[in-house]
Amino acid sequence: MKSARWQEDLQQLRHLRLFQNVAASSLQQLLKEFRACELTAGEVLLSPFNRNQYLYLLLEGRLKVYLGSLDNQAVSTLEAGECVGEISFIDNDRPSAYVVADEPSLVLRLHRASLINLFSQSPQLMQNLLELLCERVRQGNRLILDSEQNANLDTLTGSYNRRWLEHAFERESTRCRFNDQPLSMLMLDVDHFKRFNDQHGHLAGDYALCLVAHTLRNQLRLKDIVVRYGGEEFVILLPEIAAEEGRAIGERLRESLEQARTFHSPVGMLPGVTVSLGLAQLTAEDSLQTLIARADRALYQAKQDGRNRLSG
Ligand code: GH3
Ligand code: MG
Ligand code: MG
Repeated sequence: MKSARWQEDLQQLRHLRLFQNVAASSLQQLLKEFRACELTAGEVLLSPFNRNQYLYLLLEGRLKVYLGSLDNQAVSTLEAGECVGEISFIDNDRPSAYVVADEPSLVLRLHRASLINLFSQSPQLMQNLLELLCERVRQGNRLILDSEQNANLDTLTGSYNRRWLEHAFERESTRCRFNDQPLSMLMLDVDHFKRFNDQHGHLAGDYALCLVAHTLRNQLRLKDIVVRYGGEEFVILLPEIAAEEGRAIGERLRESLEQARTFHSPVGMLPGVTVSLGLAQLTAEDSLQTLIARADRALYQAKQDGRNRLSG
């Protein structure tokens, strides 16, 4: 990082979040503590391997934030006017993320030794810094929440994954049993999907799976749970639904896919797919495994009977 010559522009600085409502006279005084520095594209500004003693204020350019490794996708982008390094600047510890210049950038940096000085000169600046810190903490919490939710989702179709099924089954079966309500499960498998892939390509197959997931989601209630169970197999939990109604729901799903004779995809128009379904209703003795086993046997029967149908 090189020192840079920088002509301070008070008007511009007063708009920055850190200096909001700081009196012009204090600002001029405060700026004496800052140094301007240039970053080249790709330069690592913060890293979890190095203790950070500076607060950085981005004046020009763009910074990217990476968690875990620089090979991961960036989790956020910082634009001119934003601060970085606040947490490690205050607690004098290692940063929790990498921050890298995405293009040649100009930053103002402030050493933590100036902290006391700044606070005594401008309580307003202290408040601004605290607010920025709170934003950073909230942003971190949102990231944790997002990644936990993503861990339960199938990346191709956006349906829940198998891991979530165990959790959802536990919750829904307990709730339905407690309220003396039924619960049904549909197991669904795309017909002749190997042939579809062979004829149209694996990518086209992926889009067909997205179509199936999307059609299911659109036809079901919010409380129904759609899980991509395996390659071209989906499991649907229908809380408060007994076998007879479950059959009608499954039949409706089957029909709506049968009726989608073609569909638009990024690789052009593609023929639709049909599905076979197996139905099972929860009994008092059932575990997730035994319920799945019955739905799976019913699905096998639907395939045996000629596909594009529901059994159970
Ligand atoms: P059946 O009607 O008996 O179910 O026949 P099928 O061809 O669908 O069954 P099979 O189990 O023989 O083949 C399933 C195929 O699904 C094979 C596999 O390549 C494909 N498949 C599994 N996961 C994916 C995926 O994520 N994307 C794509 N495009 N294909 C997948
Ligand atoms: Mg299958
Ligand atoms: Mg299949």
